Amino acid sequence: MSRKRTIVDCYTDEPAGLGVPPFLGVWPRYAAGRLSDEPVYLTIDDLRLADWKARIKPATFDPPTGRTRIDLINHTRSAEEVRQTLKQTDQLIAIVGIQTPGKYLSARPGTLAEVVKLLSPYKFRRILAGPVVTGGTQLRGGGHAEVPGAKDFHELREISFDSYSELQPCMLKGAAIFNQIPQSRIVEIETGRGCTRSEGCSFCTEPVKNVLQWRNAGDIIEEVKTFMTLGATAFRLGKQCCIFSYQQGDVGKIGELLQGLAALGPEVLHVDNANPVMITEERARLFARYLTPGSTAAMGVESFDPEVAGLNNLNCTRETVFEAIRILNRIGGGSSENGCPVLLPGINILLGLNGETAKTLEKNFAALKQMLDEGLLIRRINIRQVVPFPGTKLYELVGDKFLRKNRVLYGRWIEKVRHEIDLEMLKRVFPAGTILRRVRSEIHEGNVTFCRQVGSYPIIVAVRSRLPLGKYFDLRITDHMLRSLTGEVID
Ligand code: SF4
Repeated sequence: MSRKRTIVDCYTDEPAGLGVPPFLGVWPRYAAGRLSDEPVYLTIDDLRLADWKARIKPATFDPPTGRTRIDLINHTRSAEEVRQTLKQTDQLIAIVGIQTPGKYLSARPGTLAEVVKLLSPYKFRRILAGPVVTGGTQLRGGGHAEVPGAKDFHELREISFDSYSELQPCMLKGAAIFNQIPQSRIVEIETGRGCTRSEGCSFCTEPVKNVLQWRNAGDIIEEVKTFMTLGATAFRLGKQCCIFSYQQGDVGKIGELLQGLAALGPEVLHVDNANPVMITEERARLFARYLTPGSTAAMGVESFDPEVAGLNNLNCTRETVFEAIRILNRIGGGSSENGCPVLLPGINILLGLNGETAKTLEKNFAALKQMLDEGLLIRRINIRQVVPFPGTKLYELVGDKFLRKNRVLYGRWIEKVRHEIDLEMLKRVFPAGTILRRVRSEIHEGNVTFCRQVGSYPIIVAVRSRLPLGKYFDLRITDHMLRSLTGEVID
């Protein structure tokens, strides 16, 4: 019997980089690319499915009443095939690491405790890799970082590289695991690593993990081309601290990258992180021109309170954020053929930072209200409770002191933002009657199907009937909920 190398993707979410389905992150690909032969790719869903004690029947993945099992639907093979694979494995690499925990519509990442338990019956060599190795992991905002116990794994492996030229062959080789995934995935693409600032934000793990480096455009385009030959159609330039800072914000190099990628004709080409300081008219025009519509430039504002911004060394002022939003609205705010504005800003707010008071929440609310009053368009407002990860300044200086002090205030404040800002903003961005094209049905809950377009931060649309999953529909928007829409299928 030949022995196998196996990778288990427990999914990753970091300040720079997303690998929770429907996204395929970089970590399992790079880990695979370093092995001499192609490993078997499994997901945490596969491990749950193969757990003898759980006795899960395939018929219960999507029960006719109740909710689709999002902890299982991203499995790659049958329970029996997974068990056979695990029995034949001599070395297993578990990829773990949620460092910017969010809410995931159609996946449930694995915790460290869960993966340790699910792997415990097997005798192979267990290796832990991914963001967890630097700083830990935590699925719940405001929780303590989970770190590996001394006996849980035989090895903690940093998948580190000195230079992108060394990494490039592994990137191309590791792309092959895409063929082992039956569901459609958006491929996360790395354009750079590390932080552009000499001293990073207090809470962020990116400067702890990486020094600043940019990847050249030719290599990125070659990787996307490789994925397209394997059948991938959707990409997100999400693995970098700020896409507007690509190659120090050099407009010529940003243009070269985007033009080269757009020329390949992917169905979806979106971006993530954007530092408001780097958003200029010239750069914004390039992104609006070459990205496919419906993309979001997510800005890690974190706090509009200048005291908190100073204490945590945040990257922008309130004025800079407003200027960046106005630029993106002028250039990317127009509607497009898929029903979404071309390119909108997103705002990230982080609760529990050093120096936070009740007044901080008031200042955050006032800034969001001003955006509404000015008639600006914001695609989404993401509010998270910080996780103080070991190695960060926040962890060293205050840990969860402000989270504990202010947690009592958060629930009511978030409700107020959802009711008074988000709802009105959604009505503005997606007015009733808007037609969204190619919206994919992802999960059921009772008699409702939740659908999203393929891309970064697509809006969730609830359709009041059970549509077949994994199919594409054109939807007419009928109403607005706090963070999602309701819609009906049009012929
Ligand atoms: S600017 Fe702040 S959030 Fe962005 S990568 Fe640097 S340290 Fe992290």
